[in-house]
Amino acid sequence: MNNGILQAGERRGIVMDVDHFAVHDGPGIRTCVYLKGCPLSCAWCHSPESQSPGPQLLFAQTRCIGCGRCVTVCPEGVHRQEGSLHTLERERCSGCGTCARACPTGALSVSGRFMTVEETVSEALADRVFYENSRGGVTLSGGEVLFQAVFAREVLSCLKSEGIHTLVETSGFGREEALLSLAEVTDLFFFDFKLADTGLFRHFTAGDPEVVMHNLASLRAVTDRIVLRIPLIPGITDTIGNVSAGFDLAREMGIQTVHLLPYNATAGAKYAWIGREYQPGLLEARHGLFEELSALAPQGILVEMMT
Ligand code: SF4
Ligand code: SF4
Repeated sequence: MNNGILQAGERRGIVMDVDHFAVHDGPGIRTCVYLKGCPLSCAWCHSPESQSPGPQLLFAQTRCIGCGRCVTVCPEGVHRQEGSLHTLERERCSGCGTCARACPTGALSVSGRFMTVEETVSEALADRVFYENSRGGVTLSGGEVLFQAVFAREVLSCLKSEGIHTLVETSGFGREEALLSLAEVTDLFFFDFKLADTGLFRHFTAGDPEVVMHNLASLRAVTDRIVLRIPLIPGITDTIGNVSAGFDLAREMGIQTVHLLPYNATAGAKYAWIGREYQPGLLEARHGLFEELSALAPQGILVEMMT
């Protein structure tokens, strides 16, 4: 089955969203293209609908008025309305979007649409004037960009040939060849540092920390345009030991900038929309976190708190 990921000879990928006028995803004003599909499944993921590699139905129960239109139009018999109870057989859903278009309240939507390389580049280039005035450009994020590396490379390559600044946000978990291929057409990388403790990394994600570290070293061997990004997940990644390890890694690798990313406390709501439970068991973020953590940085490392 073609799951929507670009195969050899195809020129399309699956895009979760395109954010115009983004100001937190790299220098200047940017267009941020979020690709779908991520194999890491971090326990704290604030964008769980980005993980699956295909179009995915979102259902916001609180907006449903029980009109039953979705039951009538769905060709796969996914929806069932019994009294005020609305249930879904999600495994039957093809992501066609028919029910979302028929829903009068916006309770239904589909995350993910197929886009060709040309469509993606053309949508980004429509914002070109903003890049030129702000020294901005285009950011590819996810999901995990490496999961659709062939599509990503083609998009980035087209943008580079148009003189656009390109940035890739990655967890680093993917094929090394894919990462190095993207490096040829990427001006700047935002590379995640999640957990120094390999046991905890494996416990809280579905990834392999050794692959990530190996890939970071390989990337660093071909470019110094890397920013290390540490998500501050309360009680998990925001500990003094873990953040210090991130700073040490940056220093050892000659990476000069580290971003600290505050945890998005509203993340939990989206899990219900895709029929999952959110139970990461997080603590509250500590007050004065940035001051506390940035004081740990060795000399020569610039630390920035992102909003
Ligand atoms: S997206 Fe299509 S297949 Fe899925 S529930 Fe809606 S109408 Fe049915
Ligand atoms: S069409 Fe929308 S509002 Fe009507 S029953 Fe379906 S989900 Fe609820």
